[in-house]
Parts: sequence; structure tokens; C-alpha cells
Amino acid sequence: MSSDCLFCKIAAGDIPATVRYQDDLVVVFEDINPQAPTHLLLIPRKHIPTTLDLTPDDNALVGHVFQVAAKMATDLGFADEGFRIVNNCNQAGGQTVWHVHFHLLGQRQLTWPPG
Ligand code: C5P
Repeated sequence: MSSDCLFCKIAAGDIPATVRYQDDLVVVFEDINPQAPTHLLLIPRKHIPTTLDLTPDDNALVGHVFQVAAKMATDLGFADEGFRIVNNCNQAGGQTVWHVHFHLLGQRQLTWPPG
């Protein structure tokens, strides 16, 4: 845990969020500024600033994040219709919180390319 990290504080329950799922490795909560009818953030409990900081030790963790995202899309009923998982990395990638996270967006038609 990083003491000055917003998402570490959410994972620890020190800052409120609408948590939809959690286990030993990840926490899933609703984005406060949703960009789709379903917009969830999946974060590892472990503090990892960006995708660039992932190591081979994190391979299972990232795989777990995707498994959880797929299960949530299935359980919420929009897996077959389709969804998007997004990771923004650093400033030009649109990252604003330096604790690696994955957006799960669903329940609307998403367009390509993203802005
Ligand atoms: O990928 P990026 O770093 O831009 O995403 C950060 C996300 O965290 C934003 O979508 C923002 O709405 C969300 N957020 C949140 N709760 C906070 C602060 C930011 O859901 N307290």
C-alpha cells in the first residue's frame, strides 16, 4: 500500500466507493464519472503505478483481473452483447490515477477509435 495513493485507500476501505466485487487480489468499484451505463474500475490491491511497472510476478494477477472482468460482464448480462476493457498508461494515454487499473465499460455501443 502507498499511503498517498487514492486507489490504495479505496482498496483498504479508507475512502468510500461503491464496491461491486473484491477478493484477496482485486477490488472492483463503480467509476465516479461513468462513461457507459456500466463503468467499473478493477484495481489490484497491490500498489503498482502503471502498466510499465508490471513484472513477470504480476502475470497471474493481471490474468485474474481479466477473469474477474469477464465474469462480471457475464453476471451483469452484457457479455454476449460486448464490452471493453481499457488500461490508460501515463499522461498521453489518459492516465490520471497512478495505481494501475482497468476500466470495464459496457451496456452501450462503443466506438473506435477512442478519443
Ligand atoms: O484511466 P484513468 O487514470 O484516467 O482513470 C481514473 C478513473 O478513476 C477515472 O475514470 C475517474 O472517474 C475515476 N475515479 C473514481 N473515483 C475517484 C477518483 C477517480 O472512480 N475517487
